[in-house]
Amino acid sequence: MSNTIIHTQRFELYLSQSQIEEKVSQLGASLTTQYSKKCPVLLVILNGAFRFAADLIKVLDFPLEVEFIRISSYKGTQSSGQMKEIIGQHLDLSERSVLIIEDIVDTGQTYRFLQEKLKTASVQSIELVSLLFKPARYLLEQTPDYVGFQIPDEFVVGYGLDYNQLGRELNDIYYLKQK
Ligand code: IMP
Repeated sequence: MSNTIIHTQRFELYLSQSQIEEKVSQLGASLTTQYSKKCPVLLVILNGAFRFAADLIKVLDFPLEVEFIRISSYKGTQSSGQMKEIIGQHLDLSERSVLIIEDIVDTGQTYRFLQEKLKTASVQSIELVSLLFKPARYLLEQTPDYVGFQIPDEFVVGYGLDYNQLGRELNDIYYLKQK
């Protein structure tokens, strides 16, 4: 499918399922090299990262734990700037290697919010793996540790990413076609 309509907006194909699969395998190989002896806690950021996390875990060849948290900062195609941690406050991460799994890093507000939260948790290390990264919009100094694709400043959907809750089921990633 080369394009799709979601909530009356037209989206064009950007990354195919096979490109995504290949990248996920490459990320899995890098992480397996780095984390094989660390038994990390994978902290999956819901909802968007659920598909990426599920596919990534299939190619990680080492012991790990998985936890899910939910933070919302987006409404429509613009960041609302307001952070709300909704679930996942019970976690004991002391002395653990934490690997945050994100679908996309945009401004970095979510990452900064998590870093602040985890400061008090006495974790051993925190690294961030994100399938997509928009450097043009990023506001922090410290860039994500593992990135699948650096993308331009476009709004994207599919493979877990939504536009007002729709589009997560798409197997490819699409960008919003500007009128
Ligand atoms: P950040 O906090 O600005 O880095 O934004 C991260 C969150 O915003 C991601 O986890 C997504 O849920 C959402 N987001 C950012 N850009 C997009 C996009 O292009 N499409 C869909 N969601 C996005």
